[in-house]
Amino acid sequence: MPPVIEKTKCKKCGYCAQICPLDVIKMTETELGTDIDVKYPDECWHCRACEKDCPEHAISMRYPLSHMMLHMEPQQKRGKS
Ligand code: SF4
Ligand code: SF4
Repeated sequence: MPPVIEKTKCKKCGYCAQICPLDVIKMTETELGTDIDVKYPDECWHCRACEKDCPEHAISMRYPLSHMMLHMEPQQKRGKS
């Protein structure tokens, strides 16, 4: 999963949109004002630049299952001797 922007903390400075190397985050101007969104979540490299550099600490990362280190015990076979 891509970064998650906590809207209540975000000051819409646009810095995360500027620094993202893949333009995953976009700042848009609407009739209601400036908005900041994770527009292309599937393109995220999980480099964490946006998370680290957000001055408001409004960004957190959610990693896809394939990025997590999982330790699973091998499933025991049942009914076989
Ligand atoms: S850098 Fe942080 S505060 Fe600025 S627009 Fe991005 S999420 Fe919001
Ligand atoms: S983690 Fe990296 S690639 Fe993903 S949105 Fe943030 S800056 Fe862009």
